Amino acid sequence: MAQDRKRQRPNILITGTPGTGKTTTSSALADAAQLRHVSVGDLVKEKSLHDGWDDELQCYVINEDLVCDELEDLMDEGGIIVDYHGCDFFPERWFDRVVVLQTENSILYDRLTKRGYDGAKLSNNIECEIFQILLEEAKENYQENIVVDLRSDTVEDVARNVETLSNWVKNWQPVS
Ligand code: ADP
Ligand code: MN
Repeated sequence: MAQDRKRQRPNILITGTPGTGKTTTSSALADAAQLRHVSVGDLVKEKSLHDGWDDELQCYVINEDLVCDELEDLMDEGGIIVDYHGCDFFPERWFDRVVVLQTENSILYDRLTKRGYDGAKLSNNIECEIFQILLEEAKENYQENIVVDLRSDTVEDVARNVETLSNWVKNWQPVS
C-alpha cells in the first residue's frame, strides 16, 4: 500500500494568489534544495487534466481528480514542490509544509497588470489577496503547525524565503 511507505524527502506545497511569486519561489527552491518543481497549471495544460476552457474566468476548468491521480506516485516518492493557487483538493497527507505567499496589494496589482490581467480577473485576484483567501483555505485544510505565510514583495523576500525553506528541507526527517 502506498500509504504504508515512508517518503525519505519532504513534499512542499507553495500556494498563494496568482502573482505572489509561487513559480519564481518554487523553481529557485527546487534548485537550492534539489527538489522537483511541479507547476499544477502547466501539468493541467500539458496533460489536458481539465474539463475545457472557462470563457468568463479565462482559465481552464481543472479536473481535480485527474490532477490528484496524476500526482499520486510522485507525492508518494517525496521531494516534490507543488505550485498551485489552490489547496483544498489535495490529500492532506501529501504535504509536510504548506507555504502561503503574500504580496502587498499595490505590488500585486502591478504584477498582474503587467501579466495582462484586467477587469474581473484582475479585481477577483486582488480581492483574493485582500481577504487572505489562500491563507484561510490552507489553515482549513492542513494542520496549522505545518502552514506558514511568507511575505513576497521584493526579490530579497524571494531569496530569504528560499533560504529559510531550504534550511527546513535540510533538517527534515521522516516521521517515525
Ligand atoms: P505566481 O506563480 O504566483 O503566479 P510568479 O512567480 O509567476 O507568480 O511571479 C509573477 C511575476 O512577479 C514575475 O514576473 C516575477 O518575476 C515577479 N515576482 C514574483 N515574486 C516576486 C518578488 N517577491 N519580488 C519581485 N518580483 C516578484
Ligand atoms: Mn505560477
